Amino acid sequence: MQAVAHPSAPLQADAVVIGAGPVGLFQVFQLGLQGIAVHLIDALPRVGGQCDQLYPDKPIYDIPGIPVCTGQELVALLERQIAPFAPTRHLGQRVDALAVQEDGRFLLRTTAGASFLTKSVFIAAGVGAFMPRSLKVDGLAAFLGSQLLYHPADVSAARGHHVVVHGGDEAAVQAAIACVPAAASVTLLHRRDVFCAAPEPLAELQALRAAGRIHVTIGQITGVQQSPDGCLQALELTGPDGGHARLPLTLLLAYLGLTPRLGPIADWGLAMERKQLAVDPASFVTNVAGIYAVGDINSYPGKRKLILCGFHEATLAAFAEAERQAGQKLPLEYTTSSDRLQARLGVAGAA
Ligand SMILES: Cc1cc2nc3c(=O)[nH]c(=O)nc-3n(C[C@H](O)[C@H](O)[C@H](O)COP(=O)(O)OP(=O)(O)OC[C@H]3O[C@@H](n4cnc5c(N)ncnc54)[C@H](O)[C@@H]3O)c2cc1C
Repeated sequence: MQAVAHPSAPLQADAVVIGAGPVGLFQVFQLGLQGIAVHLIDALPRVGGQCDQLYPDKPIYDIPGIPVCTGQELVALLERQIAPFAPTRHLGQRVDALAVQEDGRFLLRTTAGASFLTKSVFIAAGVGAFMPRSLKVDGLAAFLGSQLLYHPADVSAARGHHVVVHGGDEAAVQAAIACVPAAASVTLLHRRDVFCAAPEPLAELQALRAAGRIHVTIGQITGVQQSPDGCLQALELTGPDGGHARLPLTLLLAYLGLTPRLGPIADWGLAMERKQLAVDPASFVTNVAGIYAVGDINSYPGKRKLILCGFHEATLAAFAEAERQAGQKLPLEYTTSSDRLQARLGVAGAA
């Protein structure tokens, strides 16, 4: 990593955690116990990482002390556990740059233009940042950001538009429903007439279909048509029977799922082993003092990609950084009996 100077004033921090999956959330907890406040950044608009994105309703059986919980339930429990430490959240933005400064701190930048000058960095980036899957249709990319939006978190852009929402999962169904009040028309486009969502939004979709407020079109996008002034005017579709159709629109919202990408992390000058960050298993520090890697993103002898292992890694990484910042070995304290830890947890005097 090269030392860089930057003109704008970044946020000053003691610790930045990159990634709000289960391990990043538990890292916030362990740093909180050590008295270190955290800025928490995730590319997604919500916390939970793989638990939230890949298996929200599936059961997990191997979290110590919790015989069974779903992915979403685990995230909710972790949220409750970190509440006393109230990390500053910066969601919906990916960390794109990380550079060491002359004073030993680190400068981070996100895709939303935020920057941080921090004493320590905890990379809990899992299998990478979850990014929207894009459509591979000739001529469509030219409309990205204007008439084509991928996974917008809110659909305010739909106001007054003839909107096509493309996708078949809960995010697509919810977006189509959310567009109805403000859009000129709403079409939900999917390759088959089966939508994967919770019973409540499915029932609402049915009702809006019956009322003619949402039209459902079955087909795949094979081409685009432009108006003479260069606007996206219609989609060319191929139906399940092989027939062709034309679907006019003024705005396309695509919800084709999210896929993880390691992205810029590989360019940060950190030692890597087969696309994972190499760490010292005594502290989970990378080859740069003050930068730690925990959870699925790291690699060391015996590594297992399990949440439980990530929790252990986050614990030792927090101890290591607390001792580095204090410049001395710190005593082990128990949450059961330490007044200091209980005060940090906001439960002082509870015993
Ligand atoms: C179907 C399935 C079932 C599983 N079941 C179990 C189980 O039963 N028990 C178990 O222990 N494990 C299980 N796992 C594995 C477990 O989910 C992972 O070990 C765990 O999610 C790793 O957590 P993490 O916080 O390291 O990473 P992740 O959960 O992947 O979270 C990483 C986060 O970092 C963000 N991110 C990445 N790069 C950036 C960046 N540059 N800027 C900003 N944000 C970024 C991502 O958007 C993501 O939200 C399962 C996994 C799958 C897929």
